[in-house]
Amino acid sequence: MEVYHSIQDTRQWLAGERSMGKSIGFVPTMGALHQGHLNLISRSCRENELTGCSIFVNPIQFNNQEDLAKYPHTLENDLQLLGKTGCHLVFAPSVEAMYPEPVTKKYDFGALERVMEGEHRPGHFNGVAVVVKKLFEIFQPDRAYFGEKDFQQLRIIQSLVKMENIPVEIVPCPTVREADGLAMSSRNRRLSADERAVAPEIYQTLMCARDLAKKKPVAELKRISTVRLESKGFRVDYFELADIESLQPITAWEETPGVIACVAAFLGSVRLIDNMILFANFER
Ligand code: AMP
Repeated sequence: MEVYHSIQDTRQWLAGERSMGKSIGFVPTMGALHQGHLNLISRSCRENELTGCSIFVNPIQFNNQEDLAKYPHTLENDLQLLGKTGCHLVFAPSVEAMYPEPVTKKYDFGALERVMEGEHRPGHFNGVAVVVKKLFEIFQPDRAYFGEKDFQQLRIIQSLVKMENIPVEIVPCPTVREADGLAMSSRNRRLSADERAVAPEIYQTLMCARDLAKKKPVAELKRISTVRLESKGFRVDYFELADIESLQPITAWEETPGVIACVAAFLGSVRLIDNMILFANFER
């Protein structure tokens, strides 16, 4: 497995591989890898002749400086894990290499960036789009793999690729969960033992919402779910029921054939997000 820190070296090595006609799969990450990331890598290895992964804690997508400062950095361990997956190339650049100049680019994702994560984390998706665009230019992958755990991010990337005519296939991958239902996340390791014990309640609440979809009015289901999480000690940023394509909040079940529940909630200082498709009455 090749490990590069420089953009130049990465480009050069990939150009050689590409000239041999190899298909390239790409998995962008911020490191502190877990099975959720490793599943994306394994899938890419199955579907492409070459798989590359980036590890870069992207400062410009953090709207909260404390979150950035506390984000885990575990490169040695990450490389060990990646070595076992069949990944061929790891690109782990410095902030200076990725951002030699101040970032001025401002994307407009319209209504998609004004709800949920976009509303609660100003600038977050612009930062995501800027780094992913740069990474796509470096890797020029045939396919790129993104987790449904970050469902709104997935929609932003799909929009970015369309907007910029980037010739890459975006492959959505299902959320990987711990045995008790907690969605795997690099931030989970910051939970105290007590918080960790409560955290799967997010999954329970989402499953309960799925059971109650169409049986309760939309506003009532949002209220019940929020109250349930608050009663367990969460500080809820949002619990939203949204159209699965546009991610715009719905007010009645009949508005759309596909609905997703999305939640962001704090346990102590750790902000967790998760989602679940409540129904999708069409081929996905
Ligand atoms: P991150 O390192 O958090 O930026 O995530 C890198 C990629 O892994 C993103 O496409 C995430 O959506 C994906 N990912 C993170 N956690 C999970 C999970 N539990 N299941 C599936 N994909 C995930």
